[in-house]
Amino acid sequence: MTQRQNLLNLNQADLSEFFAKLGEKPFRTKQLMKWIYKDHVFDFDQMLNLSKKLRETLSEVACIDFPEVVSKNHALDGVVKWVIDTGGDNNIETVYIPEKDRGTLCISSQVGCALACTFCSTGYQGFNRNLSTAEIMAQVLIANLHLKSSGKRISNVVFMGMGEPMLNEEAVYSACDLLLDDLAFGLSRRKVTISSSGVVPALLRMSERVPVSLAISLHAPTDELRDVLVPINKKYPIKELMKACDVYLNAGKQERHILFEYVMLKDINDSNEHAQQLAKLLKGVSAKVNLIPFNSFPQSDYQVSSARTIEKFQNVLFSQGIRTMTRRTRGEDVDAACGQLAGKIKDKTKRSDARRN
Ligand code: SAH
Ligand code: SF4
Repeated sequence: MTQRQNLLNLNQADLSEFFAKLGEKPFRTKQLMKWIYKDHVFDFDQMLNLSKKLRETLSEVACIDFPEVVSKNHALDGVVKWVIDTGGDNNIETVYIPEKDRGTLCISSQVGCALACTFCSTGYQGFNRNLSTAEIMAQVLIANLHLKSSGKRISNVVFMGMGEPMLNEEAVYSACDLLLDDLAFGLSRRKVTISSSGVVPALLRMSERVPVSLAISLHAPTDELRDVLVPINKKYPIKELMKACDVYLNAGKQERHILFEYVMLKDINDSNEHAQQLAKLLKGVSAKVNLIPFNSFPQSDYQVSSARTIEKFQNVLFSQGIRTMTRRTRGEDVDAACGQLAGKIKDKTKRSDARRN
């Protein structure tokens, strides 16, 4: 028997093609997307505006399959973390961060990550595999279903969970299509963010393919230091990365900016000189800087910069006219803060192998 198609893998265009192949009219796409994404009905038998024959066919050739939730933890500050079973003894993590006027869902794009940034817990876990579009969408649907009962909503979705989204392009692009699609989640392009450590060729494609917001994990203003903290920099150094940023900023019709993420590591990248170098690098770029206090995890020797140092660093950037904010650490008591998402990863590529990528 051929494998049934999980419909959560299909964006609107793919779904239209799927129905055309079944000899169905185009309006079936709209009907099905409404059942899944608006009504949260996942059983074909309950989709009563589809003919009985079509419902039977769908049960044979298609499915709407979710991975299982292993646990759901609530932090004291309202952050919620889901651990999701992706099979083969692997878990991924999804985090909801409520704020006064919005709620951000931080989703994973891979089981682990091969890029081995030295300050990142996911990087320490190694890499197992890419997530499918269905597994990415399932994270949003699962969170939506859980949050609905408590009257909370997801206003923003960020690819800042486990994994490097730009090493899983196709699945991430289709997921973005669905996040932006009015028939599915209908978020505006400013409310969906891909965060990347700088996979340059993929960023060039992304600039044209999906009109979402972009965050770049910069973390160092010089190649010498970035080569150590973000090893992919050896392959795609800062100059090339900044060129790709320029392509992104000039693509699309609307005005764009980039959020540059910078983890604050005590005595590593947090001096006055680093701040001056960063300001110089970002001069004239339509940028916002997000300083992230380092979140520690057991295998790491790094320490977080002091609040005073972060403030001084921020003031240098301010004085050079660079918009800068410091990210408040959230969800620490359930290990849900940035860089603490470790999941459980088996059969991983070894860290030493991952570094060669
Ligand atoms: N792979 C992508 C997205 C996931 S990481 C990327 O690197 O952009 C999401 C953000 O958390 C990145 O900016 C990453 O650099 C940051 N991060 C990773 N480990 C961290 C840690 N221990 N403390 C604070 N931020 C961390
Ligand atoms: Fe991967 Fe991002 Fe972590 Fe680097 S910071 S190891 S790219 S998840």
